[in-house]
Amino acid sequence: MSKTDSINTEQDYARTDADSEAFLKIDGLTKVYDDGGSGVVAVDDMNIDVKEGEFIVFVGPSGCGKSTTLRSIAGLEEITEGQIVINGENVEGQPPRKRDIAMVFQSYALYPHMTVRENMEYPLKVRGVPKEKRMQRVEESAKLLEIPDLLERQPKDLSGGQQQRVALGRAIVREPRVFLFDEPLSNLDAKLRVQMRTELNKLHNKIGKTSIYVTHDQAEAMTLSDRVVVMNDGEVQQIAPPQQVYDQPANEFVGGFMGSPSMNFFDATVNVDAEEIRTDAFTIPLPEWMQERLDQTGEFDARFGVRPEDISVRNSADGHGDSHTTVDVTVVEEMGSNFFLTVTNNGVEYKAIVEPNTDIERGDKLSLDFDLQKCHLFDNHTGDSLVYGTAP
Ligand code: ADP
Repeated sequence: MSKTDSINTEQDYARTDADSEAFLKIDGLTKVYDDGGSGVVAVDDMNIDVKEGEFIVFVGPSGCGKSTTLRSIAGLEEITEGQIVINGENVEGQPPRKRDIAMVFQSYALYPHMTVRENMEYPLKVRGVPKEKRMQRVEESAKLLEIPDLLERQPKDLSGGQQQRVALGRAIVREPRVFLFDEPLSNLDAKLRVQMRTELNKLHNKIGKTSIYVTHDQAEAMTLSDRVVVMNDGEVQQIAPPQQVYDQPANEFVGGFMGSPSMNFFDATVNVDAEEIRTDAFTIPLPEWMQERLDQTGEFDARFGVRPEDISVRNSADGHGDSHTTVDVTVVEEMGSNFFLTVTNNGVEYKAIVEPNTDIERGDKLSLDFDLQKCHLFDNHTGDSLVYGTAP
């Protein structure tokens, strides 16, 4: 049985090593929507090479151009400039049907009058796949999605999560060369979203198809992707594996967007000679690893960034180091596994994620420590990273 005939075994669809040539190439993609005036630039000169089998997640705030990118790949938008190349072929002018791409949407778009089996069978039917093969593919996909017992049900008799599985099934039966996902988990409740995320991960490990996934949810971006593409305002901000995006954000936007609660930012003056970083809230030593990586000398203005989890309550028994500051605790959020603190010093408010400690109360004065191995400096004009957050 050939690979294209069957999705029977995991081995058939074993993940291709992502070191091959670009399978999907987005080359200078620009999309300008006509608004009767100068136009809306939805995507501005995007370039990315996606390897075969890679799972790429586009993430960014609403309106940053994620869906436009996805729709352009699918052939649902005419692009203004650039090209999209799939498996060596420029797909310009090809209608969506010809591109051999399957798209899974936020709305499940199941046919209400058809059973699950008929819904899953439908894309094959319209493509003229013979009955026997259709049945086989539906059974195999249902098994993969662990929904064989739902095949004779109507969509109205399914939960949201089950409906989304069927929608996935309808995409999988076609054995497309690329999967596109447009916020597919947005309609599910928080708990189910997390479950389905894991299911999608497992599914991708089994079928290993090139996938492009769009979300505004940074947790989905982090957990699902081989590489994340962070977008803002039509422009790509960074393309990198998720942990790298988190640890080494290319700019202030990425640092602030990835992570919850967000990274804290402070207007700062860095004095390389005096080896210190001064903000309105505190003055801390400029770590040696930062000094070594900085191009600048003397004194300059910058933005200092530190993630809430890289701030801890000072252990007074420690009694050494001077990367600490005294703060007023204004809000304590008990999260169970940790506490979110909102603190101020000198009128500057920021957040810390600390070990759970029921002794901490609103109104307390606390001494906090910054982890100087993990803080960031950004250019105060461009927002670009001057030094990454993690010491070598
Ligand atoms: P996202 O998916 O990241 O929320 P979109 O790709 O939907 O962003 O939109 C990007 C930008 O393009 C937004 O400013 C949006 O208002 C604009 N836009 C999207 N579709 C159209 C359209 N059909 N006509 C005009 N502007 C559009």
